[in-house]
Amino acid sequence: MNIILKEHGLETTNNKFHVNTYNRFNIEFTHGDGVYLFDKDGNKYLDFLSGIAVTGLGHNHKSLVNVAKNQVGNLWHVSNLFESTPQENLAKKLSERSGLSKVFFCNSGTEANEAAIKFARKYGNGKSTIIVANGGFHGRTMGSLSASAQEKLWEGFYPLTPGFKSVPFNDIDAIKNVIDEKTVAIMVEPIQGESGIVIPDKSYLNEIREICNNNNLLMIVDEIQTGFGRTGKFFAFQHNNIIPDIVTLAKGIANGLPLGAVIVSDKVANVIKPGSHGSTFGGNPISIVVANKVIDIISDQFIDNVKALGLLLEKYIEKEKIEDILEIRCKGLMVGLKIDPAIDVKLLAKELINEKIVVGTAGNNVLRLLPPLIITEKHIQHFVYILKVLFKKMNISTKVS
Ligand code: PLP
Repeated sequence: MNIILKEHGLETTNNKFHVNTYNRFNIEFTHGDGVYLFDKDGNKYLDFLSGIAVTGLGHNHKSLVNVAKNQVGNLWHVSNLFESTPQENLAKKLSERSGLSKVFFCNSGTEANEAAIKFARKYGNGKSTIIVANGGFHGRTMGSLSASAQEKLWEGFYPLTPGFKSVPFNDIDAIKNVIDEKTVAIMVEPIQGESGIVIPDKSYLNEIREICNNNNLLMIVDEIQTGFGRTGKFFAFQHNNIIPDIVTLAKGIANGLPLGAVIVSDKVANVIKPGSHGSTFGGNPISIVVANKVIDIISDQFIDNVKALGLLLEKYIEKEKIEDILEIRCKGLMVGLKIDPAIDVKLLAKELINEKIVVGTAGNNVLRLLPPLIITEKHIQHFVYILKVLFKKMNISTKVS
């Protein structure tokens, strides 16, 4: 396999001074424009990954660039000990969009989940156990890592933070069976992203909401990957017409500038006092003004279009009847293609990148597609055409419909 990849010229080369936390492709992008990325040799790539669900509005978005530039010249840091109208405006918009009431700003997804865990335990007042799902991914810092029930992520990092009980994803009875007097919350992703775009049964979140109501537990929903229109609703939990008690956000919130947020209900907000939690950089002015613009752009009409584009992408892929795509997992523009285990999905992804389409992989041999939410039908057609050609080129059985 490695020999083949070397022939593709995509071997990792640049870890000389970096700690070796990533296998990097030896492609360096120097600029972007809309749905396209450009490398230092001037090659143009169609971006079907968006920095892993981050740049939902595409690259070099003019109105986002303008507000960021303006803010850089005015004020780029101020302590959270002082008032901030842009922060207050964003908090209001997030509260209106979610149905929750108050917001805490931080810098990333893992920090948002750390805050959520702390808030839940504070609310628990002695009750501290949080039920999580196997295969979940909530971040890399010790609390979020301990909540991410995947042994491969834990190796070498024990002892974990205690107080998490994991159960199979999409298994309501398993949740009911582990609740005890120490349980304070249930924390899940609405769709498991890192584990391969695993979409639970339609009623999963509704049933968790009901269990939480009946047992006085908090429902924590990690919308870090699924939020901001990605799945065809502003938040993925809105497909279920429920409101969680705590929602965590990052990734798409400021289209690539560092920002995380936790939105909570009144009953959670009421137990948090000055000194309970904090962040020096959290909610920095540049990210905040951009996020204010992002949230305005992601209108109901915009989200309806994301939903339509997701259905279109699914339809175009289905039409090709590619036998080695075992399953199409699609919710809005959060898409996973489960590939026959006979084909290494990492090789397929590299072939696509060679063909100048940036994609990712996840979970168990799943091709991961997270295109910018601003793609059009012609980008979908191009992607599917290249995918079809590649499967043929790789000498993989493709039935023509
Ligand atoms: N939660 C989910 C669902 C994620 O997908 C991720 C990142 O992939 C995180 C949390 C962690 O976010 P960050 O990398 O910003 O810490």
